[in-house]
Amino acid sequence: ALTAGIVGLPNVGKSTLFNAITQAGAESANYPFCTIDPNVGIVEVPDERLQKLTELVNPKKTVPTAFEFTDIAGIVKGASKGEGLGNKFLSHIRQVDAICQVVRCFADDNITHVSGKVDPIADIETINLELILADLETVDKRVDRVAKLAKQKDKDAVYEHEVLVKVKAGLEAEQPARALEFTDEQMRIVKGLHLLTVKPMLYVANVGEDEVADASNNPYVQKVREYAEKDSSEVIVVCAKIESEIAELEGEEKEMFLEELGIEESGLDQLIRASYHLLGLATYFTAGEQEVRAWTFRKGMKAPQCAGVIHTDFERGFIRAETVAYDDLVTSGSMTAAKEAGKVRLEGKEYLVKDGDVMHFRFNV
Ligand code: GDP
Repeated sequence: ALTAGIVGLPNVGKSTLFNAITQAGAESANYPFCTIDPNVGIVEVPDERLQKLTELVNPKKTVPTAFEFTDIAGIVKGASKGEGLGNKFLSHIRQVDAICQVVRCFADDNITHVSGKVDPIADIETINLELILADLETVDKRVDRVAKLAKQKDKDAVYEHEVLVKVKAGLEAEQPARALEFTDEQMRIVKGLHLLTVKPMLYVANVGEDEVADASNNPYVQKVREYAEKDSSEVIVVCAKIESEIAELEGEEKEMFLEELGIEESGLDQLIRASYHLLGLATYFTAGEQEVRAWTFRKGMKAPQCAGVIHTDFERGFIRAETVAYDDLVTSGSMTAAKEAGKVRLEGKEYLVKDGDVMHFRFNV
């Protein structure tokens, strides 16, 4: 399963946020394909469409799709030199598909800051520099090898060498690989390097309790936003402390608390949504009398692969998929009405599944 790793300097609110995630989290029993690991928190992906489909179909059970966060503990400064837990830290980051970097943007004199004062940009640079240094090491090793082949006029090697030099120059200018521009063909080479700085990054600005509804006066958040823009990454604002309180509530109680706070959606739900988006994930639905369910796929996946998300047998024996767009189904009011209106299509093996498709797979066993 795809996962987003949570990182950050000590005392920025990582554990508080991760606890909120596990508190609000789903039982792994419902999601057997998810990892069972104390450092992994499983969350359900909030999706209003699921509610609508449930009203429409009236199934016995409704199951949201799930998503994993991994808590990546460990100190960061000096990580690329293998200090302390450094190597472990980097190898954990290597395994995640996106990075959520928690940044301290709350002022609280009772809580020590590792470097003595609240300075989110310095914090971000501390972490990012370690990632850049680790990537430089990766690229340097590869450059050495490829340079020899390139000298022998190996055409592929000459091309790869050019790409590596470009990546290296970017990293040396402290640019993460994700902020550099590549053609598709260059990108194929970059991907093969498994760099850390090519992974999508989301900065989670952790603000004070009184700034949940409106953090526009928080100067730190503004700085993080400016930084993120240059860095090809995104920002969301949460208050980890409040999130851990919200996570203990459900249903109406949760709604009431959010209203009191003056927000529509919890920071955690925003975090889930942003990470999902960052990972290039989308959702399709199955809607039967037994169960209405959301399933996660990667954008660009075809119908058989999407069927394989449910079960490998579905992919292997795939014949076709009865498909209706969510909006069409809701407008029609029922599956029967959608069929009568000609909105239900029979899609084959080459069909690129779209976010919101409601699908019924036909397959051979
Ligand atoms: P970690 O070292 O990054 O995992 O940080 P923790 O989650 O342990 O948080 C460090 C301290 O900051 C704890 O005392 C938290 O209660 C406190 N803290 C975390 N988030 C917030 C916040 O949003 N506001 C305030 N005032 N304190 C927070």
